[in-house]
Amino acid sequence: MDTVFDQIIQGKLPAEKVYEDKNVIAIKDIAPKAPVHILIIPKKPIKDLQSITKEDLPIIEEVILVAQKLARDFNIEEGYRFLTNNGISAGQSVFHLHFHLIGGRKMGILG
Ligand code: AMP
Repeated sequence: MDTVFDQIIQGKLPAEKVYEDKNVIAIKDIAPKAPVHILIIPKKPIKDLQSITKEDLPIIEEVILVAQKLARDFNIEEGYRFLTNNGISAGQSVFHLHFHLIGGRKMGILG
């Protein structure tokens, strides 16, 4: 079944897009945990970090460059988190690989 991110990628669900190219889309998180909370999503339906294969690595490189660009665009270059939750016990709720770009506030070790 299509995840919410598949539906956003296909244009079936609205989202606040901040970046898009052939392989990657980035949207504002619907429930932001910080002033800047962006989800960077490879369009390829990869389930999670653990499912990435060697052939997917060029897409992951692109994702990292998009993260750097968005960190610059949103003025959080000097401090941000870039993370993915892998699996239910880590808090993953959407099973289409995505990376959280979070910044704009002071963060502690985990919070
Ligand atoms: P995770 O829990 O790591 O799988 O992250 C999923 C994230 O997707 C959460 O931070 C949600 O707030 C966010 N989210 C869920 N649905 C939407 C949506 N329709 N548009 C934007 N963000 C969403």
